[in-house]
Order: sequence, then structure tokens, then C-alpha cells
Amino acid sequence: MAFTDLIGQQQAKQRLGVPLMGEPGHAFLLIGPSGIGKKSLAREFAKGLLCAHPTENGGCGTCPNCIYMREHTHPDYRELLLDPGEKNIKVAEVRSKILSDVGIMSQIAQRKVYLIDADGLAEEGQNALLKTLEEPPKHVVFLLTVSDDSKLLPTILSRTVSVRLVPNTEEEVMEAITAAQPDTLPEEARLYARFSGGIIGYALNLSNTSWLVNDWEELTDLILRLPEITRTELLNGIYTFFDAEKEHFLDLLALMSMIFDEMAIAISDPKSERLHDEGKKDKMISVIRKHRLTLGKIGKCSTVLGETSKAFRANGNFEIIVCRMLLALKKELSNG
Ligand SMILES: [Zn+2]
Repeated sequence: MAFTDLIGQQQAKQRLGVPLMGEPGHAFLLIGPSGIGKKSLAREFAKGLLCAHPTENGGCGTCPNCIYMREHTHPDYRELLLDPGEKNIKVAEVRSKILSDVGIMSQIAQRKVYLIDADGLAEEGQNALLKTLEEPPKHVVFLLTVSDDSKLLPTILSRTVSVRLVPNTEEEVMEAITAAQPDTLPEEARLYARFSGGIIGYALNLSNTSWLVNDWEELTDLILRLPEITRTELLNGIYTFFDAEKEHFLDLLALMSMIFDEMAIAISDPKSERLHDEGKKDKMISVIRKHRLTLGKIGKCSTVLGETSKAFRANGNFEIIVCRMLLALKKELSNG
């Protein structure tokens, strides 16, 4: 494993590759949303920092340092992560695992590396770390990861070199899904990739569940039936579906928004290869023709979804919110 084995994040890899070839600083901060791969990248960077023959692509993979890192047994590398279920890393842990250890010389590498999940550090924990960050021992490098850097003390930010991770492209996320689960159908991988917003970790979690694919199917059928569905069926049968899925209603809205995006593509470019669902494409195009759907109408449907999301977040009456949404969408999608 080296940087090239991690998918995407070219800029971040390039920025981290440079210090591996010279004298690295003492503290780096990797910033990016949860699931984007901060820790994976930090671990590869750590391997490069400990490696006896690093390149800009990270560790060599064959020296004792790289082998210890691969086996998670390197004596000069430590991680301080948030335990599942805990809200914060305890200050006592910052002291016992990091502060009491930094003064001890490295055993086999020329330096020591600490990976710290700064999302788990409340202000007290950050303060405990600060003094060492300000005057780090020569042989120590800190790697901090954080999803929301506005929660970090300005003094922490000013002591670290920030490297930002950006959302992956749809293709990159699909590549990651196919690598982890080779049996995934391409159209399903595309759906997970799109829904994840470019966050590989989130996409991989989604690919272990079935609700996304099921609800996508269900909602596509529903939207395509909307123009002809009766009011009674809408307010009874269809409402029941939303009621049963109330827990992740916002996900359903996001899915519906993606379906309307597909319809917009189908209107402007029916031959587009960007359409997700080949099977439903013909049905979609025939509904669009029959009901003379335009980009303007689809745009209004998106506005309806936005208003629905707002009302739901404001804790409005769920039944009223859903029924109003369904009637408004039906009105936009019907002739006239
Ligand atoms: Zn090596």
C-alpha cells in the first residue's frame, strides 16, 4: 500500500508527498467530512514518515518500518481515536497515551508519529495537547484528523499544516465500491455513489444495506405513476409507504430529488448515458411525452421537495406535510 493504492484525493496526496522528501513539519491536520478517508490517508502518510526509504508516494512497503505499520505493530506509531459510543476522548487518555510518551525516543524509526482523531477532542482535550503542539520534541510528528475544523481552537489551527480532502467523483466512489464488493451491479454502484455525495465511507455503508435500492425502485415507480394516480390512492396507499419510512424521510426526499434530476436529463437528452436506470428509462420517457413534462415543471417539483424538507425539519405534522407534497407534485406532473 502507498498513496496510489488509495482512490482519489490527488491534491492531498501531492501535498503530503512533498514533506516526505524533506524535513516534515511537526503537525498536520487532515480536514474532510466523516467517511471521506482521512484516517486511511493519514495512516499511509504515517507509514511514509516512518519508512526508511520513503518516496513522494509514501512508504516503500518493504522496509521493517513499513512491515510493522502493515501489521499494526510499529512501536513508534500510536493512534488516539474516539471509542464508539463515547462523546469525547478523555483528557486522561490524551495524557497517558500521548503526552507521557512524546518525550521517549523512537525505537526503530527516526521519528514517532501520533494520529489523533481531533473530532473527539473537546476544548479541554485540545488544551491539554496544545503545549506539546507548540513546542514539539524534534522527533515527533502529530497527524490530526477533523471533520469540522471550526471546532478546533485557533491556536491548534495555527500550529498545524492543513490539508483538505475533497469529495470523490462518482467514478472514484464506484471504483471503491467495486473493489470492496465485486458483485455489486454497476447501476447499483452508481446509485450508492451518487447518493453518498462523493463520500466513499458512506457509499460503502450504503452498499451493505438494501433500503436505498428498494426505495429508489419504489419511488421511481411512484413518481412515474403520480400523474394518473387517484387522489384517494395518493392519500391512503402512498401515504402509508411514507409513514412506514418516516425514520429516514429526508433520505427519501434526497432520493426523489435524484429521480427528478434523472427526469430532467431524460427531457433534455433522452439518449444520455448518465441515466441511472436503463430498465425504467423507456417508461420515464413515455411519461414525459404523454404529460408534456418540461424542465420548468421538474424545477417546480424540486422546489416542492425543498419546501417539504423545510417543513419536516421544522417538526410540522407529518401526515399534512406528506399529503401536501404528494398533491403538489401530482399537480405539477399532470397535464395543464
Ligand atoms: Zn518503508
